[in-house]
Amino acid sequence: MTIQWFPGHMAKARRQVTEKLKLIDIVYELVDARIPQSSRNPMIDEIIVNKPRIVLLNKTDKADPRMTEEWLRYYREQGVQALAIDAQAGKGMKQIVSLSKEILHEKFERMKAKGIKKPRAIRAMIVGIPNVGKSTLINRLASKKIAKTGDRPGVTQAQQWIKVGSELELLDTPGILWPKFEDQTVGYKLATTGAIKDTIVNMQDICVYALRFLSRYYPVNLKERYGLEEIPEDIVELFDAIAKKRGCIMSGGMVDYDKTAELVLREIRTDKLGMLTFDDPAELSSEE
Ligand code: GDP
Repeated sequence: MTIQWFPGHMAKARRQVTEKLKLIDIVYELVDARIPQSSRNPMIDEIIVNKPRIVLLNKTDKADPRMTEEWLRYYREQGVQALAIDAQAGKGMKQIVSLSKEILHEKFERMKAKGIKKPRAIRAMIVGIPNVGKSTLINRLASKKIAKTGDRPGVTQAQQWIKVGSELELLDTPGILWPKFEDQTVGYKLATTGAIKDTIVNMQDICVYALRFLSRYYPVNLKERYGLEEIPEDIVELFDAIAKKRGCIMSGGMVDYDKTAELVLREIRTDKLGMLTFDDPAELSSEE
């Protein structure tokens, strides 16, 4: 699932998306609802020009519902069309079609006015960074298994259209773009949510980030999950407390920090600490 993004790959990915833009009426920009900002491509506004776009916040089943509302409000204020969806369970699929029709209503009315009696279906494509659920969404919209999971940039394929009802057609291959990985916090967020393979980042570093974040924003979840009365301010003490509760102790009584980090991250990713969101729209202006 992880792609090593080199400048050449980025240029190629961008070119491929730009090529496909010519074929479509509307873009669905898929992001992870737990990290709507960190799971965006940093150049998306430059890449998708002159095409209407809907931001789809996916995996809302794993995200903090209160924060998903905040994000939707933020997009509304920015004049950006956005929907909260769960591609895995198929939630929000009808809204994608109806909002697309609404957005493209005028364009298709103009086509009608030019004498095209039966307008063609709306043509759409999905773009997003790896692992946000592009293939899952394509399969969902197609209501049968078609898209190959796993990303293979650079593999050229003939374009196929997937019919979504009678009014929408979707490109069968999504546009795969790169994340903003040069920013360390963004990297930690991507790793915490499992968007980046663990082998390319240090598990303990990610876990330090994640535990500090949880201590600050989700202290109740953290206390309840690991049976902590209080959350130690010192990060090593916090690791120690969790390790003791969970038996992540090596022979000789030393704390096994690798095992503790692995356990905590696995539990975050499998929602054992509840529905969590790591990006806050309120912090957007200070981040940039
Ligand atoms: P892609 O790389 O963008 O094509 O992502 P995939 O479609 O391969 O999905 C990546 C992982 O996220 C897979 O394990 C999917 O099952 C999972 N996934 C996709 N959408 C959702 C969702 O809405 N909710 C949850 N919980 N998991 C999802």
